[in-house]
Amino acid sequence: MPTRPSSDPRGHDGPCPRGLPRAQAQGRPRARGRPRAPRRPGRPVVWATLDRILGPRWRTPPTTRRRPRTASGARSRSAARRQAVPRYGIGFGAPRAMVSPDAQRPPRPDPRARLEVAVMSREPGRYLRIGASDRATRVGLYALVVVFPLVLAFAAQHETDHPLTQEIAKGLALCGYAILALQPILAARYRWIERPFGLDIVYRFHRGMGVAAGLLLVLHPVLYAVGGEWELLLGYSHGWEVALGKVALVVLVALIATSVFRRALRLPFETWRGIHDGLALSVLALGFVHSVAAGGDLQGEPARLVWFGLFSASLASYAVHLRSVWRRSHGDDFEVVRVAQETHDVWSLELRPPVPEKGIDHLPGQFMFLTLHRATGPTEEHPFTIASAPSPDGKVVATIKESGDFTKSIGDTKVGDRASLRGPFGRFSHRLHDDDRPLVFVAGGVGVTPMLSMLRHMRETRADRTVLLLYGSRREADIVARAELDDIANEAPPSVRVAHVLSDADDGWEGERGHIDRACIERHADGLDGKAFYVSGPPPMISAVTRALRDAGVPIEDIHFERFSL
Ligand SMILES: Cc1cc2nc3c(=O)[nH]c(=O)nc-3n(C[C@H](O)[C@H](O)[C@H](O)COP(=O)(O)OP(=O)(O)OC[C@H]3O[C@@H](n4cnc5c(N)ncnc54)[C@H](O)[C@@H]3O)c2cc1C
Repeated sequence: MPTRPSSDPRGHDGPCPRGLPRAQAQGRPRARGRPRAPRRPGRPVVWATLDRILGPRWRTPPTTRRRPRTASGARSRSAARRQAVPRYGIGFGAPRAMVSPDAQRPPRPDPRARLEVAVMSREPGRYLRIGASDRATRVGLYALVVVFPLVLAFAAQHETDHPLTQEIAKGLALCGYAILALQPILAARYRWIERPFGLDIVYRFHRGMGVAAGLLLVLHPVLYAVGGEWELLLGYSHGWEVALGKVALVVLVALIATSVFRRALRLPFETWRGIHDGLALSVLALGFVHSVAAGGDLQGEPARLVWFGLFSASLASYAVHLRSVWRRSHGDDFEVVRVAQETHDVWSLELRPPVPEKGIDHLPGQFMFLTLHRATGPTEEHPFTIASAPSPDGKVVATIKESGDFTKSIGDTKVGDRASLRGPFGRFSHRLHDDDRPLVFVAGGVGVTPMLSMLRHMRETRADRTVLLLYGSRREADIVARAELDDIANEAPPSVRVAHVLSDADDGWEGERGHIDRACIERHADGLDGKAFYVSGPPPMISAVTRALRDAGVPIEDIHFERFSL
């Protein structure tokens, strides 16, 4: 049967070249401006239609769904710019204005620079780009959220016959509850909040603000009473919404007391965490219902909207927290590939991700949360420094000292055991304060782990740095990675000196004795001016060394520390 030629403008039935839309094949203009994706021969219509709507990448699994590389091999133009900087021998993350005229020369391959880029491309890059303005933005936003409901409530109120004390009481309650609602957001370990400050600072702020909110909310009924409403505080003849507020206050006091006096109450950390989560949710819910039912100042539409938004954000963060609890107890992505005994009570675990892309992309010195899934022993989440240098294969090492319930069982870990990891966290890394200054590392006990990570990284990248490591241990047998530290000190670059200080040394010990104090630091550091100090270990040691450095005139911004306690 004869067919019409495909160029026939009326030929809507006729055949047309495969893969070309009919109108195009027939020389007619396309109905819409966007060119349609050609249909692959033999593919079901439904796939082709979905491809057209969602684009061809929708079927690609997430792990492989990556940007195509540019000509330079980078995945984006900004990544290409970042790659370009170290290739010319200027430090990673150096401002572009610092690129010397030499940068115009054709790039010389530098294996060290490539290693740096390979191991520091994603998450660490974000840490490196944080500045003071990022911190100011977050603090400003926090302050705004705390006072915004108060401003809206008072803006909506025209005149009042309430005594001033009651007006203040209402204001305190609004601010106090806003702070409480922000607590789960602070605790959810959001990267956007953690990166500029470090998780330890965020947690300390969370603790401080919890106490502050408690004070404001306790003052709320007290000021009502002082304003003449003693019945509200002491009586029983009020509505259910006031009773709910009283219950919320009692729960809040219990929540704060168990947190502040956790150690004095001898509450195991995991038990305390369960209690804390339960009480926090109760306070949030009870307080919210009380505020909506009893709070006349939330009648205005904008104030109500903001209030509901705040409560929803708080609940959502709580859900994020629960999801992470679920994931760490069910996720077992990592595998223990090596268990090594470092000293009589310190063990190293090497952990491997299923694929390098699923590894933890960290800076040297940062820490992670580790949960081990073993045949025996507790399945708890604990923070540990990543003692290894950043590595392109995603492997990480945790060097762990036996100290409590969980860590006492660390030696029972077997090769092949599974683990889940969350991180990286923290800002204790020389890479975040990059300059050429000599570094003084002061470590106490297993607090040497972040120093090990930084020194290993310097050795692998052959960084041109000068480092003095003052390493305090009890006895010689407690020194971790002694042989490796000696090796690093004997190689250069980096130029490293290690001085061991023993508090309980045998008679034969010829090195330093006692604790690392100001005299000891001054003796070894050859002057303290122009140096950057990194101190890591148990909290009492951090306080003592920081005080000694401050007494010696070291500016606070030159002292960085990692407390082994969150
Ligand atoms: C940033 C950071 C890095 C650390 N790096 C190392 C390291 O490289 N090597 C090492 O041996 N130790 C490290 N620690 C200390 C380690 O986390 C504790 O020794 C360990 O959690 C103790 O647990 P446990 O059950 O054995 O002891 P416990 O006696 O039960 O706990 C002792 C204390 O550890 C803290 N703790 C326990 N569980 C948690 C938790 N899930 N989250 C937060 N704090 C908790 C609590 O303050 C608790 O009071 C680090 C701690 C921090 C904060």
